[in-house]
Amino acid sequence: MEVDACHEVGIKAPIYLTVGWDAFSADRHPEWLERKPDGSLYGFEDYGQLSPGWKTLCFNTPYLDYLKYQIVDTMKHFGSKLDGLFFDIVWQDPCSCNYCIEKMLNLNLDPTNEKDRILFSKITEQFLKDEISQTVRFEDKACPVFFNEGNILPSIRKNLSEYSHLEIESLPSGEWGYQHFPTTVRYAKNLGKEYVGMTGKFHKVWADFGSYKNKAALEYETFLALAHGAKCSIGDQMYPDGTLQRATYELIGSVYRQVEKLEKYNDGSQAVTEIAIVHPGIISDSELKVDLSLAGAVNMLNEKHYQFDIVDQWMDWAKYKLIILPDKIILSEGLKRKIQEYFEKTDGKILATYKSGLDAENTFLPDWGINYLGKNTFVPTYGKYHGLFENHLPNGELVLHGEGLLVSPQGAQVLGDEYRPLFQRNYQHYYSHFQAPVSESKGNPVATSSDRVYYFSHPLFEMYKRQGVLQYKQMINLIVDEALGQPVLKTNMPSSGDIILNHNEERGELILNLLHYIPQRKAIELDTIEEVIPLYNVKIVLSVENISKQINTDIKKIKSVKAVQNNDEIEYRVKDNSLEFVVPEVKGYEIVTLKY
Ligand SMILES: [Zn+2]
Repeated sequence: MEVDACHEVGIKAPIYLTVGWDAFSADRHPEWLERKPDGSLYGFEDYGQLSPGWKTLCFNTPYLDYLKYQIVDTMKHFGSKLDGLFFDIVWQDPCSCNYCIEKMLNLNLDPTNEKDRILFSKITEQFLKDEISQTVRFEDKACPVFFNEGNILPSIRKNLSEYSHLEIESLPSGEWGYQHFPTTVRYAKNLGKEYVGMTGKFHKVWADFGSYKNKAALEYETFLALAHGAKCSIGDQMYPDGTLQRATYELIGSVYRQVEKLEKYNDGSQAVTEIAIVHPGIISDSELKVDLSLAGAVNMLNEKHYQFDIVDQWMDWAKYKLIILPDKIILSEGLKRKIQEYFEKTDGKILATYKSGLDAENTFLPDWGINYLGKNTFVPTYGKYHGLFENHLPNGELVLHGEGLLVSPQGAQVLGDEYRPLFQRNYQHYYSHFQAPVSESKGNPVATSSDRVYYFSHPLFEMYKRQGVLQYKQMINLIVDEALGQPVLKTNMPSSGDIILNHNEERGELILNLLHYIPQRKAIELDTIEEVIPLYNVKIVLSVENISKQINTDIKKIKSVKAVQNNDEIEYRVKDNSLEFVVPEVKGYEIVTLKY
């Protein structure tokens, strides 16, 4: 009935199926539940037998047959009215149930070894997606399918062909925070599938009934999706009798009326990017929604309004002028070949921090021009910087909050030296609250540059996400500026804004998205946005020459520059291969289109 009602007004209604949490099955078949090594249950939280909440089912049990039966039944029931299937809770915990133990032993994995259990849980997730996919495809070759894990990481690669599109579940007022979407979308947009940003209408997160997200927050979350070329979706939950709340749909409607007007501008466009951050998920999965080094790198670049992507080693790196290897990119043989290929095919640079560039034997690639000496036992320690950092940093030592490596130059130019504290703080020696003041240098560099590689010995990206020290970002920015020469975009927009530049080849148009919404931590539990704070006279300088190179299209003849919210023509001038103009007002979200 609901599906018919949706179809009558032109709304598609894919069917939602919960996979890992099914209270009906869990009650009747406790032998189908995932088990921890001590036999206790996995759940949404650490639920015991007498607590409310979902318990998690194991996909190596006969539950899988029941699930497949349910999928076929659903597909037959809706028949030609079926618009797609959304499978939720598609993950497996490291399980020690009888079925898993038997399967692990058959694969020569050790159930008593935690690493083997984690590995087997990943194998099970891939197996589950294959099984569901085969079941669906047997019934219907074209039915849209999405598997929801609450994140999109490089581990999606093994099953990517089984997804018809990607949905980025990201409720900033929940565990995702405002960090997750802008990070994940910059990776997901390069996976070659249609992609959707999904937030929720609740003040907090799913099932926060009787709550309404602040309108400014909901605007930001949906407009940021549009700016990144994504479709957008706002989640809600019905009452058990199917009732929807009027106030919720007035709220969603007030935002969707704006989306309706604005969504066409970025449709069918591609991001104009010149920097790539390599996703740390290619080395190992983070236990957090967003790896901290990746988060730090995204924030540093986004706050300075550089145009960048997040990539894995299966994507093409050739178009990027700078590749960033954040903190923990230890090189496999495949990654070494990828880097050599990048050096051979381009004249681009690499910026690496901390362990990035080492191989499994703790040897740096020769292009780094440094030797590994070991871990630095002084934590924190200090750096004094020269070369291109001179006159940009405080004229003195800078504390480095984080464990670094000790390296020695082997051909690389030294851009900064380590200065140790007077002593490493411990129970015998301490000076006030934290690290002891600076002492002497033993001649180990903390920053170097070679022909192709800039290197910092400390995990500056994670350190920026943890500590927010402005100078860490300034150092990275100075390196990025030097590596790029002239970036595709320069602006006086403050770090609280977002700028995303897209290109639509068919329309012969650049689309510049400017957003200014400031998430605040007013509450203990979450960040939110209460009102829009307009910005005025945002200056933009576009490098016409570099944009033309990045998109392989000559855009030297610009015909018009227009701010779409009020359909205002913007005056512009061309000067030395640059196009300069001022956006008079950014009231939350403004789109500027440039016809060429
Ligand atoms: Zn199991």
